[in-house]
Amino acid sequence: MTGNSHRSSSSLNRERRRRELTALGDGPQIDVLVIGGGITGVGVALDAAARGLRTVLVEKHDFAFGTSRWSSKLVHGGLRYLAGGGVGIAHESAVERDILLTRTAPHLTRALPQVVPLLPNIGAAQKVLVRTGFLAGDVLRRAAGTSPSVLPRSRRVAAAEALRLAPTLRRAELRGGLLAWDGQLVDDARLVVAIARTAAREGASVLTRVEAVRVTGTSATLKDILTGETLDVTARSVVNATGVWADRVDPSIELRPSRGTHLVFDAAAFGGLTASLTVPIPGSTSRFIFAFPAAHNRVYLGLTDEEAPGPVPDVPHATDGEIDFLLDTVNTVLREPLSRSDIRGTFAGLRPLLRTGDDSTADISREHAVLTSPAGVITVVGGKLTTYRKMAEDAMDAVVAHAHLAAAPCRTRVLPLVGAVSGAARDAVQAPPRLVERYGGEAATVLELADQHPALAAEVMPGMDVIAAEFAFAVAHEGALDEADLLDRRTRIGLVAADRQAAEPAAKAAFG
Ligand SMILES: Cc1cc2nc3c(=O)[nH]c(=O)nc-3n(C[C@H](O)[C@H](O)[C@H](O)COP(=O)(O)OP(=O)(O)OC[C@H]3O[C@@H](n4cnc5c(N)ncnc54)[C@H](O)[C@@H]3O)c2cc1C
Repeated sequence: MTGNSHRSSSSLNRERRRRELTALGDGPQIDVLVIGGGITGVGVALDAAARGLRTVLVEKHDFAFGTSRWSSKLVHGGLRYLAGGGVGIAHESAVERDILLTRTAPHLTRALPQVVPLLPNIGAAQKVLVRTGFLAGDVLRRAAGTSPSVLPRSRRVAAAEALRLAPTLRRAELRGGLLAWDGQLVDDARLVVAIARTAAREGASVLTRVEAVRVTGTSATLKDILTGETLDVTARSVVNATGVWADRVDPSIELRPSRGTHLVFDAAAFGGLTASLTVPIPGSTSRFIFAFPAAHNRVYLGLTDEEAPGPVPDVPHATDGEIDFLLDTVNTVLREPLSRSDIRGTFAGLRPLLRTGDDSTADISREHAVLTSPAGVITVVGGKLTTYRKMAEDAMDAVVAHAHLAAAPCRTRVLPLVGAVSGAARDAVQAPPRLVERYGGEAATVLELADQHPALAAEVMPGMDVIAAEFAFAVAHEGALDEADLLDRRTRIGLVAADRQAAEPAAKAAFG
């Protein structure tokens, strides 16, 4: 384990994990022990390490094993919160969106057009509501200082343009569309890995396959899932960033998870969709579902919001009811209806919402909270991917005050993540755009691997836009420890079971 007296490498791999785990037993005192390697935990670890604190993060499975890989992968401007009167949180979202798009992760984010088709299913009143909402989104964007060259202004478009963006829309009675822009992540799990590696570069030890058990405000027992060995550690502060599992680490937390489900299609099913096709939910004036282009030439269609009481599963699943609801709703605007046979996969995630009363989950506050338990554990929970940096800053401000730590001020606002590259520097990266989108400035390193070892230039399965060099890079630098890490989190091949099976031999070979 290292402090922040010097910068470390950002490369995570089995060898570094072993070395740092061994050093934990007799290293200097830990300032901040972070439990959980989702977006929240890695964000806290980065913030802590960048303040010069000796930081250790433990994750029971892999980075982004939990909710953080099941999101809609949007960098929200916070429009939805504005509708509920939450001006502060909407502004915070828009500011964080700007930081991600322009400074910290320009390589992992992009502008996504959202189009609401004007078909008879949208009445005059609803049209006015959407248009007003989009104009409010423009105000939010301007207030956050985001230039229209990054996210253009909203506008009405003609039917021809709506069809260009969403070619499978019903032509008959299409009067055009309402268009607005938001941010989209290349992939949520890849953002988590990039933040974890940046934390490692800043000196943190980030250890996957390590579970924290018996946690107090100043100690925990760490269990190495790979060997079964345990180790007791003490720390000046302990942060619980375990999302929907937060109440297991700190029983004083009360959660009320809500499930959100997406369906996965081949891009061809939506005829080359280039926007987020946003469809009003029949009977609601303010809720929509959306279909949008996603990694590996696919389209995701989401999203539901269902109460999910009872024990929290490791991996949640879509229900038949949710699948029918998403299909029925999107079919209200499509020329040819989609059916179950078009669906190539599904995924579902649980939102870690705090219990705040008897409200339905759709109305529960989506703000984040930083809570200190009677035992002194600091829990940070709620919020979203978009605001992870602010959540981490708030959590670390609380930690520094609570544990009286001598720390530098928060630096993450201006700290680009590993691989961050934009503008002319991005143009200069010698690699295909597909690789630059995933690896930013590191794309050239991935390509070099393929140049040096021609076998690594091959696709991991026929027709998949992933080459074997990407698996090799993930094993050497991105902390992938087994095939599932490669198939389900460093890439998202595994969202389609048949593709997962076809790419498995290449994933196995990456560890050979
Ligand atoms: C369906 C859906 C769609 C969403 N869409 C968006 C979106 O488009 N944009 C957006 O900004 N936000 C979105 N969100 C919100 C966002 O995804 C979540 O707020 C966020 O991912 C929660 O991250 P987390 O790190 O708190 O939890 P998690 O990602 O669940 O991480 C917790 C981690 O803790 C680990 N852990 C648990 N117990 C232990 C232990 N004892 N020891 C060690 N490790 C442990 C788990 O393995 C897990 O990896 C969405 C959420 C859902 C559910």
